[in-house]
Amino acid sequence: MGARPLPRPYHQAVARILLAEDDEGIRLPLVRALEREGHQVEAVTTGTEAVAAGVGGEHDLLVLDIGLPGVDGIEVCQRVRAGRPAVPIVFLTAQDGEMDTVNGLDAGADDYITKPFRLAELLARVRAQLRQATAEHLRAADVRVDVAARKAWRGDDELELSPKEFDLLALLVREAGRVVTRERIMAEVWDENWFGSTKTLDMHVSWLRRKLGEDAEDPLRLVTVRGVGLRFEA
Ligand code: CA
Repeated sequence: MGARPLPRPYHQAVARILLAEDDEGIRLPLVRALEREGHQVEAVTTGTEAVAAGVGGEHDLLVLDIGLPGVDGIEVCQRVRAGRPAVPIVFLTAQDGEMDTVNGLDAGADDYITKPFRLAELLARVRAQLRQATAEHLRAADVRVDVAARKAWRGDDELELSPKEFDLLALLVREAGRVVTRERIMAEVWDENWFGSTKTLDMHVSWLRRKLGEDAEDPLRLVTVRGVGLRFEA
């Protein structure tokens, strides 16, 4: 105890990115830079194309210029958001884009970057958005947790969890593969000033096991590490 956990390595997944930018001088270097990071980039040059590709598309992230021919980036964002509220969107705004910026965030973008920008800066923003997006959808074995929506599933079945059961599951799944000490669980899920018995925890663990369909004698996912805490198998 006392030692801080190491930061989680960021597993840079290959993300599918939709880029809409009509200025070739920006678009081409951006495509190259994103591809160098390992992403799959679909690049379009008009807002109309961006709407066609984005609505119902399966991109992990969108980078939208605001000043696009046809439909502007803000409207593209709104139309895509209507069907896919969770997809991260980063706007590219004009140089004197004070108003663009305000409108951009109102329109539901997660971040914006003002032209001219350094590629490294944009790549860092993209990375941050992707990290955030994956962090909110935790997954271990056949269990999935959507932290923002406070929903959890085992396979395709949504789990009906009490608030504490949800918090406990989210913490354990977030740390999947590693032991989480009883003290930490009590502090984070129950009360930061907690001290004393962990009977409450034991009760919640057994309820959670039942809801996960675990064999209480021989749990496969939610495992007790004797004398230390709990581990959710990765
Ligand atoms: Ca433009």
